Amino acid sequence: MKLEEHVPLAPLTTLGVGGEARFFVEAHTLQEVTDALDYARTHALPVFVLGGGSNIVIADSGFEGLVLHVCIAGITCEEREKGRVNVTAGAGVLWDDLVAYTVAHGFIGLECLSGIPGTVGGAVVANLGAYGAQCSDTFVSAEVLARDDETHTARVFTNGMCEFSYHDSMFGHMPGRYLVLEATFSLLTTGTSHLSYRDNRFDLAALAAKHGREPTPADVRAAILEMRAEKGVLASSYKSAGSFFHMPFVSSEMYAKTVAKAQILDSTKEERLRPWAWEQPDGAYKIAPGFLLEYTEFQKGYVRGAAGISPKHTLCIINIAGARASEIALLARAMQQAVENVFGIHLEREVEYVGAVEKEN
Ligand SMILES: Cc1cc2nc3c(=O)[nH]c(=O)nc-3n(C[C@H](O)[C@H](O)[C@H](O)COP(=O)(O)OP(=O)(O)OC[C@H]3O[C@@H](n4cnc5c(N)ncnc54)[C@H](O)[C@@H]3O)c2cc1C
Repeated sequence: MKLEEHVPLAPLTTLGVGGEARFFVEAHTLQEVTDALDYARTHALPVFVLGGGSNIVIADSGFEGLVLHVCIAGITCEEREKGRVNVTAGAGVLWDDLVAYTVAHGFIGLECLSGIPGTVGGAVVANLGAYGAQCSDTFVSAEVLARDDETHTARVFTNGMCEFSYHDSMFGHMPGRYLVLEATFSLLTTGTSHLSYRDNRFDLAALAAKHGREPTPADVRAAILEMRAEKGVLASSYKSAGSFFHMPFVSSEMYAKTVAKAQILDSTKEERLRPWAWEQPDGAYKIAPGFLLEYTEFQKGYVRGAAGISPKHTLCIINIAGARASEIALLARAMQQAVENVFGIHLEREVEYVGAVEKEN
């Protein structure tokens, strides 16, 4: 294990803000992971597990503990039954490298999740999702280390044990307790998977018409990458941490109030932005936070000092040039406050703050 000190963390994140890690270990093997955890335990250091740094804001004062950068590599595949393959990837593999690998092999199941930054470990923790597909659709199991298990015995967590939900998992709601070492996905080798295309925002029929045949996973990947580039949600688009806020779920009464308020404020805008809410099986509504923000000053292209909002996506707070974490957090709080003032709806933060981000502003 190579223990480093005072390592700048901003370059290891997609937002590019924040200070240093007091201690830092880049772990490529299970042994390096356990050595780092032992070091942290012996020295009573808090640990932060870092993947691709695409869903976090690091405090300007950095992290006064040990940052364990999980870089476990490797992709393997094994045909379990005819027409299906299990693909296993190390937690440090870049998620999009895994997707590209499966698409190159003609496997079906991950192509809708193309172009999303971060690692395989981070994807499992966040139950990464886009265009109606989510990581848990094809996830079989993960090899996981419980941080408080001093015997360092890796355990297998199957899909049902991970408590996956919208953009969350058991690992996500117990941050730092478990460390994902590798994950396995079950993919189809023949046929067409319609399961992952259930979201009508991705028009598979139009793609089929364009190609004059059933789209291949490679066609779907290319279309998704193009769409993500247009929306500015590729890692290369802007320095951001992706969507800063979760989609709020509200009661049918609250939804009705929201429609009424939006129509009073600007009915043309309300009509133009439809659909902006989706009814759930339990009668609640899932609302696009970008729609709510459209009724505040926080629009696409908004600039406040060195921070701002992506010109292409209202939910992406961006680091325009040398922003500090405190500026990002202040802007996020102002956006939450504005939506609360107009609609009485609280936008929950999706992006995780690491270190003393909230105390710094
Ligand atoms: C431009 C852009 C677009 C995005 N688009 C999407 C999208 O379409 N859909 C979507 O769902 N997300 C999206 N995101 C958010 C982000 O890419 C995902 O949440 C991603 O899965 C985070 O993975 P990561 O490796 O970067 O995790 P990090 O940001 O490094 O960490 C996030 C959390 O996961 C934990 N973690 C990371 N690795 C491990 C591990 N091996 N074991 C245990 N815990 C771990 C960390 O401790 C932390 O709590 C986007 C982000 C950006 C910048």
